[in-house]
Amino acid sequence: MTKIGFIGLGIMGGPMAANLVKAGFEVTGYNRSRAKVDRLVDAGGEGAASVAGAVRDADVVITMLPDSPDVQAVVLGEDGVLANAKPGALLIDCSTIRPDVSRAIAGRMRALDAPVSGGEQGAIDGNLSIMVGGAAEDFEAAKDILDAVGGTVVHVGAAGAGQTVKAANQLIVAGTIELVAESLVFLEAHGVDTDAAIKVLSGGLAGNRILDRKAAAMVQREFTPGFRVELHHKDLGIVQAAAREAGVVIPLGAAVAQLMASLNAQGHGALDHGALIELVAQLSGRE
Ligand code: NAD
Repeated sequence: MTKIGFIGLGIMGGPMAANLVKAGFEVTGYNRSRAKVDRLVDAGGEGAASVAGAVRDADVVITMLPDSPDVQAVVLGEDGVLANAKPGALLIDCSTIRPDVSRAIAGRMRALDAPVSGGEQGAIDGNLSIMVGGAAEDFEAAKDILDAVGGTVVHVGAAGAGQTVKAANQLIVAGTIELVAESLVFLEAHGVDTDAAIKVLSGGLAGNRILDRKAAAMVQREFTPGFRVELHHKDLGIVQAAAREAGVVIPLGAAVAQLMASLNAQGHGALDHGALIELVAQLSGRE
């Protein structure tokens, strides 16, 4: 049996760890706040009181943390994963972080970058899209674990490649949310029945998952995360830096990055990213 140490049991990591337990893996979890560890224990996992406690006996360590500095500290820091895991243990970092940080970590230990897409519901359903960078043999070794939390699991290249694909994902998602937000405010301003509009738009070329999954909550101005504005703001920083590094110009991406930054700067970082609609309404003098 593969023993898994799981660090970061938040919105995404909590249900992912629970699904690994359901799939028959022995999972020991650690999170900074104890309540989230207790939730894993309720789901049939083991709880640990430190990173060291979660990874000491693990064959595979999964991290699902907010940002690059968190992953650097937890993996490379003193009393971190590298200092405490068994030699040869495989790290699967599912966090969305900078590709260069993923590459640096892969230079220090056996590691895959395996960021995910699909949101909280995808994590609960075990149906995430997982874009994996790293060595082909490590991908093969991790496949059963990734299949237990993912529906679409694809090896996209060497270390860091998973993060680059995830950055493209975040560019598409942010841009699409912004266009859906602008369309909804536009429809509201014209007094059109937004439910009817969403239904018919979904059936045509404008149909997309944001319209299917997020538009109704955006119309209701219901912004319980989901995916927090502060995390998407972080991701658009990664996108802009990576685009600049490659000499690629992303005018619409830059515009949506500024809008997300504004929402964050106005103190809305803890809201779901669907809150972009509030900003569009505000810019239109409608709030
Ligand atoms: P979250 O804030 O809900 O979860 C992160 C967890 O890590 C928290 O429970 C926090 O307490 C814990 N944590 C932070 N630092 C820690 C440390 N040093 N030691 C132990 N625990 C620590 O965030 P989330 O929404 O689950 O996102 C996690 C990652 O997944 C982010 O990189 C995010 O960009 C990415 N992501 C999120 C979604 C989504 O829809 N929420 C979707 C895809 C990818």
